[in-house]
Amino acid sequence: MELEDKITTLKGVGPKKAEAFARLGIETVEDLIFAFPRIYEDRKNIIPIAQLREGETALFIGEVDVIRPGGYYRGRGSRVLRMLATDDTGSIEVVFFNAAYLAKTIHKGDRLAFYGKPVYNRDRLQVVHPQFEKADKAETGILPVYPLTSGITQREMRRLQKLVRPLYSQVEDILSEETIHRNNLCGIEYAIKNVHFPDDRQNYLEAKYRLVFDEFMVLETGLMASKISEQEYEKGSRFLDDNSEIEFIESLPYPLTGAQQRCVTEIMADLTSDRPMNRLIQGDVGSGKTAVAQIAMFKAVKSGFQAVMMAPTEILARQHYEGISREFDAFGIRTGFLSGSMKAAEKRQVLEGLSDGSIQVLIGTHAVIQPDVLFHNLGLVITDEQHRFGVSQRIKLKDKGDWANVLVMTATPIPRTLAVVLYGDMDVSIIDEMPPGRMPVVTKCLTGFDAREKCYEFVERQIREGHQIYVVTPLIDESEAMDARSAAQVYEELAARFIRTEMIHGSMKQAEKDDIMARFSAGEIDILVATVVIEVGINVPNATVMVVENAERFGLAQLHQLRGRVGRGRWQSYCFLITEGQSELALKRGEIMEASSDGFYIAEEDLKLRGPGEIFGTRQHGLPDMRLADMAKHMNVLNDARDEAKAILEDDPKLQKPQNQPLKRRVVKLMGKDMSLNL
Ligand code: ADP
Ligand code: MG
Repeated sequence: MELEDKITTLKGVGPKKAEAFARLGIETVEDLIFAFPRIYEDRKNIIPIAQLREGETALFIGEVDVIRPGGYYRGRGSRVLRMLATDDTGSIEVVFFNAAYLAKTIHKGDRLAFYGKPVYNRDRLQVVHPQFEKADKAETGILPVYPLTSGITQREMRRLQKLVRPLYSQVEDILSEETIHRNNLCGIEYAIKNVHFPDDRQNYLEAKYRLVFDEFMVLETGLMASKISEQEYEKGSRFLDDNSEIEFIESLPYPLTGAQQRCVTEIMADLTSDRPMNRLIQGDVGSGKTAVAQIAMFKAVKSGFQAVMMAPTEILARQHYEGISREFDAFGIRTGFLSGSMKAAEKRQVLEGLSDGSIQVLIGTHAVIQPDVLFHNLGLVITDEQHRFGVSQRIKLKDKGDWANVLVMTATPIPRTLAVVLYGDMDVSIIDEMPPGRMPVVTKCLTGFDAREKCYEFVERQIREGHQIYVVTPLIDESEAMDARSAAQVYEELAARFIRTEMIHGSMKQAEKDDIMARFSAGEIDILVATVVIEVGINVPNATVMVVENAERFGLAQLHQLRGRVGRGRWQSYCFLITEGQSELALKRGEIMEASSDGFYIAEEDLKLRGPGEIFGTRQHGLPDMRLADMAKHMNVLNDARDEAKAILEDDPKLQKPQNQPLKRRVVKLMGKDMSLNL
């Protein structure tokens, strides 16, 4: 057996099981070894029944006596099975709800090992729904509990984990002796052993620390390697320091806000210095980030470079393209568009224009990072709504230019700690001021049977005044369709009442979506019913009402984004959050939305409501998943790992030295193979 062997080489794992394992990201024996437990059950000691304590989960062994099946549990309509478990010291009641079938499995006189948490019912202790098994087969010790998927049981997972133990000694250590020493870490074999099968708490903590360190080390090495190295700084030439951007700024129909102006000044300083720009712009929805990006692109062109901007959705990319190309046309600047759904002939033309330099500005979706997109001399790379993209996509885009200035824009406020990890040494500009004349959007939560009617009466008046309306419904799957209103259902009701109603959703053809969006922009549609495809970026100033159906299904940050679609023009705008049911969380969210329109405040409240776990969740920020490391909890480890990663890359920027090969392999494995471009 080798680390690289497919998991099917293990006894008892056939093709079917292998599929289940693949869902957990486990394909090889090595993957299995790195699938660590989330929690543990302390089954080291068998507790005498008389010593069971309320709230203390424990393992106990008892003989089953007096089984009483039948009866319905109050209100729930489920069948209850009660029994008494007895050992030398006493008895305790064991209860299973909704489990009449167990009467066939458990018999009077059986000796069973139970594992569960005693609780008081009136004045007697009982254990509800414990795990149980025959006493003579009971697993004892500190048992790892692994994340599972259907088709794999905990018992099976533990068996396989034991089977591969002899291979721990073959796992490469990605850290040098020196690093291990300096950071007081344990060896990798010891760490792996004690995370799967800890002897005691101390060993476990040491082991976990080591593995968390490794995960951060790999992540940080990858992120740092993806940044521009000092040598690359030398390569490029800087943009012209000739104030050429002013011509464009003066052509805008409005003066820049103070915050936009500050941001532009910072960008210009970057662009005209001899280091490439590496800047993040954070600005709430509607704060005018696009104009700032456009000024930077104008500057690039005036300095003889090409610029590219990538947006997360086709609709958004197209909207940017339409606005930007119209304004750039007036200056004789040629703007191209690229998306996955374009015809081959159209696409070829754009690609030609890019490589011969006749197209100076490119706007598009992630199609712009495909390998066949080659630029003549790319000097500026912009990503809009950055959090939607993965790290590897960001790297690919940057690598399109020999020496590209990077500008990243996001409306999602990022907790500072996470920003450090994601963007490292990026400079940050904050647009914390809205264009003048914006009135805060009046926000109301509506519940109760006539909420919807009241809301749509209001909508009717707004339409009569010539305004347009968004109605957003959550994405739901079939099984939930019973309690949430689907876009189709909402659409039918509204279309019966308002003539110019259209629907847009993710599975529609691109051409259809574009057509509807174009007509909505042109004011030919009054009500647009949509699933969350309109979440980011869409700009129709005449739209004054945002109705969110089943608002309880959206998170705060999302609601804030949605609300940002209205209040973009001169008119008072409204956001109605229609909720069904009255969960506490939904109520709290509603209150926050009614009280504030400040994205940073809302993000903070979101953090409090959901806890750091979800916010720091790597996926939504485009970071690869980590198994043990938790950015919220392990900041100190992260900092140490950063320092090490930095030291290693300073000494060996491309990780070419033999001792760095194991680290390099792991980085490429975590970040995807595009990573190897940078190493
Ligand atoms: P976001 O930051 O959400 O991307 P946009 O760039 O889409 O915001 O800008 C929102 C709206 O504000 C657009 O209609 C834009 O034309 C307008 N806008 C941008 N800057 C200003 C300004 N300084 N004064 C007035 N309107 C502005
Ligand atoms: Mg935007």
